[in-house]
Amino acid sequence: MGQNTLDPDDWGAFRASAHKLLDAAMDKMESAKEGRVWTPLPEGMKEALQADLPVDGLDHESLQQRLAELLPYGVGNTHPRFFGWVHGAGNPGSVLAEITSAAMNANLGGRDHGAIYVEKQVIEWSRKMMGFPEEASGLLVSGTSMATIIACKVARDSRLGSQCREQGVGKTQLVGYLSEQAHSCIARAFDLLGIGSGALRKIPCNADFSMNLEELQKAIKEDRAQGFEPFFVVGTAGSVNVGAIDDLDALAEIAKAENLWLHVDGAFGATAILSKTAKERLVGLNRADSVAFDFHKWLQVNYDAGCVLIRSKEKHLQSFSGRAEYLTGVNKGLAAGDLWPVDLGPELSRGFRALKVWAHLLEHGVEKLGACIDENCRQAAYLGQKVEDSAQFELLAPVALNIVCFRYIAKAECDLDALNKDIVIALQERGIAAPSTTFLNGQLAIRVNITNHRTDIRDLDLLLEEVQKIGAEFTEKN
Ligand SMILES: *Cc1c(COP(=O)(O)O)cnc(C)c1O
Repeated sequence: MGQNTLDPDDWGAFRASAHKLLDAAMDKMESAKEGRVWTPLPEGMKEALQADLPVDGLDHESLQQRLAELLPYGVGNTHPRFFGWVHGAGNPGSVLAEITSAAMNANLGGRDHGAIYVEKQVIEWSRKMMGFPEEASGLLVSGTSMATIIACKVARDSRLGSQCREQGVGKTQLVGYLSEQAHSCIARAFDLLGIGSGALRKIPCNADFSMNLEELQKAIKEDRAQGFEPFFVVGTAGSVNVGAIDDLDALAEIAKAENLWLHVDGAFGATAILSKTAKERLVGLNRADSVAFDFHKWLQVNYDAGCVLIRSKEKHLQSFSGRAEYLTGVNKGLAAGDLWPVDLGPELSRGFRALKVWAHLLEHGVEKLGACIDENCRQAAYLGQKVEDSAQFELLAPVALNIVCFRYIAKAECDLDALNKDIVIALQERGIAAPSTTFLNGQLAIRVNITNHRTDIRDLDLLLEEVQKIGAEFTEKN
């Protein structure tokens, strides 16, 4: 017997505290609709998190308490009135899947074991969901940011030839295009890949915040005339500010005519393919060369779980394969398996995030997940209408999908940007709701994003009432 095993001495006691912790986790999820939205971490706990490196360990009971103590202090996205940025609300089923994957402690870099088949199944389901062809391939990743890096690398290598993997990007002046409303993760990917974020042209938008395609074509022409090499265009399916969707079908036509790689950033919007009402706005998504999307946003899988799909498995492999000698596969035994995830992305050791996605799709099925998305769109339309109907509010962008951007208008003369920013901070600090802010056409907007299966119409009524109340409170004070 080893002297220093990390397994518990007393399995009975360990099991008992594990059950207690599971109960605490279930309590947290069962009461997700109650109480404050965001609760900042108390000062005492912040201090306790600046302790010295532990030399001796804790007993299990104390440790489970330390874990359970943290449960109330999340960002608040499990609550029905969390409306900030784009966060999924999560679901209790993911807790069970995470227990299972922790117990297996699988490493999904490759080899032949059960977890690999689960991930393959999830990728196959994702491919079908997005309408990609059979020869497509994909990988589960932390989120759309990582998915975008992988997609951009395959696009880059497929344009420059895979020798650039060894020789670097050289002198070719690659350029890519995206809308002014596109997400910053694409610029980060260009930066990381040595193309440079300066090689991205931000194309102006139409009044509905979708990319102006005439401006796109003009930019491509100008770049070619100046000796640049256009190779890449991003279609945004669900922009982070207002939920705008670019005309993906038209972008696919332009990409074909101009020989560009079409990448779709569909972090949350692409998953509206499962909805009844928003689905038709995603026509052309299945023509993309790559798509990046998240399971942890509108599909409600717990963090983190994103996915990249690449239309051509061959190009995907050409950009990432090449294992070292000690990783060479064989036909049989544990080191078998035709395609290892390490051949499709930059990571070798990888966790089993596929399990919670697989379990989630099995538990709920895509009908219900799509219905949740439809419901959020109806709720956003309802909120947008209420804003328009009130003289105290102003809608700052058309409601395209699930995001409502508006502001409170005071009767008195005042700085509306500052006032609305203060209203949002007060809503967050008082634990009432958690919208975020953004700027649209130079004006600060209260931004309400609804990617939340727990949200109810009454939560939106309450939000508007509180904005009005706090707005009045702040303007009277001045
Ligand atoms: C959230 C988001 C991203 C980034 O995705 P992560 O999963 O946070 O890495 C990219 N694009 C859009 C449109 C997003 O909403």
